[in-house]
Amino acid sequence: MRGLKHQSLESKLRLTQLSGLVTTVLIGAILYSCVEFVALRASAAARLLTLTSNAAESVAIALQLPNEEMASRALGTLRADPSVRAVTLYDETGRAISEEPAKADAAAAATRLEAWGIADPLADNPPVRFADLTRSHLQVGLQQDGRRLGVIHVDLDLRRTVLTRLGNRIATLLAALLVAGTLAYLLSIRFRRAIVRPARELMGVTRGALDSKDFSVRLEKRGADEIGVLTDGFNELMGELEHRDRSLRAFNTEFERRVRERTQQLDAAVTRAEEAAQRAESASRAKSDFLARMSHEIRTPMNGVLGMAELLRHSAALDDRQRRYAVTIHQSGTALLQIINDILDFSKVEAGKLELDKSGICVRDIVEEAAELVAERAQGKGLELLCDVPPQLETTVFGDGLRLRQVLINLLSNAVKFTEHGHVTIKVASNEEGLQVSRFHFEVSDTGIGINAGSLATIFDSFVQADSSTTRRYGGTGLGLAISKQLVELMGGLIGASSTPGEGATFYFSIPLATDLTAPQTRRDSPLTGSRVLIIEDNPTARAILRQQLLFWGAVATEAASATDALAILGKAFRGEFDILILDAQLPDTTAAAMLTAIRQIPDFADVPTLVLTLIPGAAGRAGAEAAGFTVWQNKPIRQAHLQSTLERLVKSRNNDNTSVPEEHTAGPRSNTVAVLTQSSLKRALLVEDNPVNQEVAHEILQALGVEVVSAWSGEEALGLLEHERFDAVLMDCEMPILDGYATTRRFREMERAQQRTRTPIVALTANVLRGDAEKCFAAGMDFYLGKPFTIEQLYETLESCASGAAADNAGASRAGGILDQSVLRRLHDLKKSGGPDLMAKLVGIYTANSTALVDNLRVASESNDAEALRQAAHTLKSSSANVGAISFATLCKQAELAAKGGKLDMARTLVAQIIADHKQVLRALDQGEVAA
Ligand code: ADP
Repeated sequence: MRGLKHQSLESKLRLTQLSGLVTTVLIGAILYSCVEFVALRASAAARLLTLTSNAAESVAIALQLPNEEMASRALGTLRADPSVRAVTLYDETGRAISEEPAKADAAAAATRLEAWGIADPLADNPPVRFADLTRSHLQVGLQQDGRRLGVIHVDLDLRRTVLTRLGNRIATLLAALLVAGTLAYLLSIRFRRAIVRPARELMGVTRGALDSKDFSVRLEKRGADEIGVLTDGFNELMGELEHRDRSLRAFNTEFERRVRERTQQLDAAVTRAEEAAQRAESASRAKSDFLARMSHEIRTPMNGVLGMAELLRHSAALDDRQRRYAVTIHQSGTALLQIINDILDFSKVEAGKLELDKSGICVRDIVEEAAELVAERAQGKGLELLCDVPPQLETTVFGDGLRLRQVLINLLSNAVKFTEHGHVTIKVASNEEGLQVSRFHFEVSDTGIGINAGSLATIFDSFVQADSSTTRRYGGTGLGLAISKQLVELMGGLIGASSTPGEGATFYFSIPLATDLTAPQTRRDSPLTGSRVLIIEDNPTARAILRQQLLFWGAVATEAASATDALAILGKAFRGEFDILILDAQLPDTTAAAMLTAIRQIPDFADVPTLVLTLIPGAAGRAGAEAAGFTVWQNKPIRQAHLQSTLERLVKSRNNDNTSVPEEHTAGPRSNTVAVLTQSSLKRALLVEDNPVNQEVAHEILQALGVEVVSAWSGEEALGLLEHERFDAVLMDCEMPILDGYATTRRFREMERAQQRTRTPIVALTANVLRGDAEKCFAAGMDFYLGKPFTIEQLYETLESCASGAAADNAGASRAGGILDQSVLRRLHDLKKSGGPDLMAKLVGIYTANSTALVDNLRVASESNDAEALRQAAHTLKSSSANVGAISFATLCKQAELAAKGGKLDMARTLVAQIIADHKQVLRALDQGEVAA
């Protein structure tokens, strides 16, 4: 039955018809058989009853004769019938006289009668009885003239007769039914088709429509029956689908059109954006090119102006007025350079070109340097400049010292600029923010004109000044704070300001700085521990700063806020109660000289060491003449380290009771007085420079520093000279036509290597001061870098660095010279001589193994562009190379380390190639050095 579900409609119909037909035939046949059977049996019994009655007449006659034999014979005809099983004749007494088929057997006859429930054969019983379907019993009485003669009992078995006839009839019936069924089935095929065909058609059309997606097909309606209704439904559905299909197609077309339109618009926009980006990029490139060019172009003439003005200033041939003019030219030039630097900085930040450097710096040093730089101006205005840096702030941190100093100088010079009376304080505090990061808070406050609330909001914008009258009165570009803000933000910090107009302003910023945990933490015991100091200072902040510092060094401080207080304290004190006095030279109502005289008049303190801190440069010199005994003068602001060393010196001198304390008059921050220039220890230098002005400036300065100068006007000329002559240093301009400074340097270094000469230090002189220029110089093989315009002092210091390097090189005559630092080698050799272990051999062994592995790491890192691995390997190689005295090799490693750290992989790769080449030389030199030892 279950399989029926999946049969076709036609099969189902066929099955239904067939099963109906078969059921009908079966039931009909069975009913017919039953009815026919009953009728046939009855007619057979009736026929035999007639037969028996006929026989009974003949028997009755025979019995009257009486002729029993005749009676038996009469019964014999009856007996001949196939349906008759037994015939028994009873006479009028009930005696069985004849028995068919066998001889008379009374017992058997009695048993048979018993089986039919007949006790008396003569009793009146129904003539016909049926025992089961086919067995029956007949009883016919014998009468003659109203007298009873006997009875005939007949046993019948009708099965054969009845079944034979029934079989014939059924066969006929079945034949008739078969003919009728076949006809009916043939007829039904047509009906079935009438049902199945429209269904098939519907199905075919639906499938076709689905496959072709053509919903325009319709079915022809063939009648009003269910199929007709279904056809209507189907047609309606198709109509609906067709409608939807049409609208969908219309919608799609519209949609596609719009998408196409949008895509075109988008494409156009992208093209425009790309063009704009390209334009912006080339503009930005042009801008940075312009920056670099401008930087270079402006610096070159500035170098001429400043250099010449400085030379003029130091010239002995000038009278005072002429010198003043020269000083003014120099100052104006410096101011102009500052403005140019500001503008360049600003454009660099704007162009996203400004990148921060990261190196170990000491915040205290930077703050104190910045303070020193503005100190002169503060002193000129009679302003107190206070540096409140906690004494314990000694940690080395990683940051861009140059930029931090720039921000501080900006804020400090503004504070000094806008303050007429009172003081300017710079305060630093730090608090730990993470394991390795501290947040540093810087605060510059002044007691100047202040800023009104309206302007406070905008002063950090570029070109904005508090009000236009400020510009007229104080000058300025309005760029300083904008640059400061950008720098602070680049450093990951925030800057802000607060002010009470008329009372002063406070600028503050805080930046996170990573602390260098590996930096040595030296806090040596100070000889100041336990010493007693009297601070005579009217400014409470200055007093507090001094007290803090003294406490930190373990000294005991007593404070006096005025001259009167101080004298009162000293008057009451006993000898030795104070080991040192610190005296502010600018106390109200008295002078430092008067104060000193007054102190020296107290017998117990006539010779107590005294440190006078003065604002006014030169005051030191004047007062020093007054033979004030143990007095040391220092200019404010005094660096903490300097204060410490001065006080320590004073304490020691007292302890030794050495009366000859050297009078020290620190000129303090930059004095304008003319001094004969210190002579450089460098003897002979080659100056390579194509620009006549720059040539002259450098030439003159070098001569003034006592250096013999040989000039070369091009790279080629320089190489010619360098081939045959020896110089203590080469000053190399970077930008020269044909053979520039970099190429010249590279060729010269090759020449040196080929001739196995000692390395001559090369100083790069360049007006390119953008980031990366210094690295470029180092990569080319130069040793020092000096941006134009440079001061006499800067050149002097650079020459001294060259001289010290050269000295080390010249000291050793070994062939390893130039590659290995001889002093290191000597130390190692000395150790060996003094009977120590053969450290050299050991060291060389270890170094050879380690460095070879590291160089290999470097090569791999450089090939796989792994900046971090490169940095690490370069860092380790740097330290171990320095240990064996391969100083310039170590410098090379450091450059590679820095390049990798700064993400400059190209440069790092070039350097690694150089390292691989130089490493072999280092190993060879070490080998030779060892053999020589
Ligand atoms: P500049 O000083 O070159 O004009 P800055 O950007 O450094 O440019 O300063 C912008 C303006 O902010 C100044 O012109 C001044 O009006 C105001 N300003 C800055 N610092 C102070 C200060 N310490 N006291 C009063 N005003 C200040």
